[in-house]
Amino acid sequence: MNENRLFSRTRWRLATSYALVMGLILSFSGLGIYEAIVHAHWQTLDRELEFVAGTLHDSIENTLKQPGRLEPATQELLPEQMEQRHVLGAIHRGDYYIRFLDLSERKIALAGLQPEGLPLTSTKNTWQSPCDEQGNCYHQISLSLHTQNNTPWGYMQMGRSLRDINEYLTNVKLILLLGLPIAMILVGISSWWLAGFAMQPIYQSYKQIQQFTADAAHELRTPLAATRATVESALRTPHTFNLEAQDILKTIERQNQRLTGLVADLLLLAHMERRRSPLRSQLCCLNDIISDLIEELAALAIAAEITLSSEIRVYKPLYVVGDEEQLYRLVYNLVINAIHYTLAGGKVTAILDCSDHHALIKIQDTGVGIAAKEQKRIFTRFYRVDSDRSRTSGGAGLGLAIAQAIVQAHHGSLQVHSELGKGSTFTIRLPLAVTSPKSKNLNY
Ligand code: ADP
Repeated sequence: MNENRLFSRTRWRLATSYALVMGLILSFSGLGIYEAIVHAHWQTLDRELEFVAGTLHDSIENTLKQPGRLEPATQELLPEQMEQRHVLGAIHRGDYYIRFLDLSERKIALAGLQPEGLPLTSTKNTWQSPCDEQGNCYHQISLSLHTQNNTPWGYMQMGRSLRDINEYLTNVKLILLLGLPIAMILVGISSWWLAGFAMQPIYQSYKQIQQFTADAAHELRTPLAATRATVESALRTPHTFNLEAQDILKTIERQNQRLTGLVADLLLLAHMERRRSPLRSQLCCLNDIISDLIEELAALAIAAEITLSSEIRVYKPLYVVGDEEQLYRLVYNLVINAIHYTLAGGKVTAILDCSDHHALIKIQDTGVGIAAKEQKRIFTRFYRVDSDRSRTSGGAGLGLAIAQAIVQAHHGSLQVHSELGKGSTFTIRLPLAVTSPKSKNLNY
């Protein structure tokens, strides 16, 4: 596929588009995951601060007597003295600071962490995230304090260092940023492979069309060249006698017939490919088709010294719905092949049978047979096992392709069993009509 410029360009384009779309989806997903982690951390942090600060706030308020003054009982509650208190155990991890401010927001005391150069922030906003001189940031909650008799005392600000959270988020960011190019390389490789995989059937059919065009041109060239040679030689002989002129015209007519037949076969194949159904739907009696065929080909079989016979293994006529002309052509192609590829003294038998709501037509011969490796290819257009031999028999390699197309259009199947030197059996299987010949309602 890669040698063909059109296909390799399309594969590149497809793979790049896949990779780009996948890259965008992955980037947005990564961003979403990161945002979700950040959000979850901030929520946990808020809840933790709220709980720790709230508990401490309630205990402290019970000890306050005079606005702006910390009582000795209050100081006992602060982290340095609180080693035994489980509820404020979080403070002892060393990540918290507590600031006490008076009513005019001046600092009275500081407990816990001692961040250098941390600015005093207004208590109007409950939640803040100030940073110290070293660039360490904290998340802080501000709560107002009241004395025991409920007069405003001042404020308490509790902050928690964001160092561990920031470190964790930086690691997550790093993993996502490093993971993205690795994921993109994997996406690129799989996109290339997927694009190739998706294009394989199109490429196969492109190759078939190319092969078909080449074969068709080759087949058309032979009769055209023969006609041209005949005409040219006639023109070079000025005094052509009547008898010779007749011979020339006969040659031209023969070649013309061959061309006409070939074009008709190609048109039939193209038509069947498009429609995938028989041209007409009528009740066709297979017994009649076989007996007519045997009658028509009897003279040819006698000339080839071949015994041509039929064997009807059913007691009543078998009907199928389809195009009688096409069905006749189908059996004709198989019988004519059997005659062509059977040596003098051999036998060709057309058998009609039925099984499981299907009609079976078997064309059996004692001919040259077909090698196992060729048996699948013989249904390909223009394919001939032995092209020299087939050419002398007049076939262009379309007979079995047409037979196959007709069978498919009639929802049936065509199979071959053959042994080299012993003979071949072609079996046609067609669904029987589920109606009597008098009925107008035709169904498969
Ligand atoms: P052709 O027009 O050359 O006969 P077909 O499509 O009918 O083309 O058949 C394709 C090839 O299959 C033939 O070239 C021939 O080699 C082989 N073939 C078909 N029928 C028989 C048969 N009954 N016995 C042996 N070979 C056969």
